[in-house]
Amino acid sequence: MSFIPYGRQHITDEDIAAVVEVLKSDYLTQGPAIETFEKALCQETGAQFAVACSNGTTALHLAAIAGGIGPGDRVVVPPITFVASANCARYNGAEILFADIDPATLTMSPLVCRRILEKCAAEGRPVKAVITVDLAGHPCDMQAFALLKKEFGFVWIQDACHSIGASWEDNLGIRWKVGEFPAVDMTVYSFHPVKHITTGEGGMISTHSEALAANMRLHRSHGIMRDPAGFQNPSEAFAADGSANPWYYEMQKLGFNYRITDIQAALGTSQLRRLAENIVKRQAIVAAYQSRLAGLPWLKFPQVADGVSHAYHLAVVQIDFAAAGRTRAEVMNRLKADEIGTQVHYIPIPMMPYYAGTVDSAEIPDSLAYYRQALSLPCFPQMGEAEIERVCSSLKKALA
Ligand SMILES: *Cc1c(COP(=O)(O)O)cnc(C)c1O
Repeated sequence: MSFIPYGRQHITDEDIAAVVEVLKSDYLTQGPAIETFEKALCQETGAQFAVACSNGTTALHLAAIAGGIGPGDRVVVPPITFVASANCARYNGAEILFADIDPATLTMSPLVCRRILEKCAAEGRPVKAVITVDLAGHPCDMQAFALLKKEFGFVWIQDACHSIGASWEDNLGIRWKVGEFPAVDMTVYSFHPVKHITTGEGGMISTHSEALAANMRLHRSHGIMRDPAGFQNPSEAFAADGSANPWYYEMQKLGFNYRITDIQAALGTSQLRRLAENIVKRQAIVAAYQSRLAGLPWLKFPQVADGVSHAYHLAVVQIDFAAAGRTRAEVMNRLKADEIGTQVHYIPIPMMPYYAGTVDSAEIPDSLAYYRQALSLPCFPQMGEAEIERVCSSLKKALA
């Protein structure tokens, strides 16, 4: 019996051939495969511009920089997400304000966010940016946040590390893919092996703003400008006849080396071709869990809002462990003894020692309540019928 992890990548012969092709080419990095990957993601998501980079965390950091988040700025983040969603603003010296989740969909509550926006505006220190997180693959309440943005004027960064390929319907019946909705300033993706598509390590930001894309490209590579049209010191940049000097480049910002390689980008382009079919498979796995675990009295599934097509990066269940008379550790260990991996997504960020004291627990009751019940079951496209059955019977046994 082989171990079933909670998530796992899938690499095909085609993926391998795409990587080998780059290995035999002239460029391992800073070559044409990166733009091909960026264009493919735009095509897939409906975004206009995209900037690929070294991972989802650096993608969030580039978005925070382009969004102008700086020292002392206030940035709203949900407590239930991976720590990188908040850290990206801390890198720039911002203050994090945690807005509780909606207990139904597990994404940031627009009502709680509004209270924070109002309070900060009244204090004369308005919120600079809101970072929403599409937890498990469920887009947040996009229309509600679009209205808040209109009213309060913040930078909206959507952490879509779980939700590439998801979509939702607005109240006019128009369907929007994650990455397509123009009210969002920047949408961030990760290509870590547990995510929907992988490049080993990798990330991307999509946007409808050419200026934001240019800013992120600049910071991705040391803040160095190589396009003569963007040079700031003409006397150094250009010869007497007006031609650009062949050696010349300018460092204009304090940037980083956050680049992705062409090797990784080729893998990403190849993986992206299977995104849609893989999401259908993930949805089928969760549907199978829902029908087979339906009878368990202490177990429930998070709700899916009307019109949402969920990307199911994670198959989250919520279990009342106290009522079931089992601790979560006991259940996880029993599943592990049956060669089944589970995980908790996530420990609320304010519980991390680094973030201690940033928020009163009375202000995030739904995040804390969710955390006590959360368990992520295995979910990856290559899971077969027999594996789904193994997970369900092992879980039933552990809770019986
Ligand atoms: C994975 C993830 C990240 C970070 O991406 P990396 O590629 O691992 O750096 C950020 N936010 C969320 C919600 C994630 O799941």
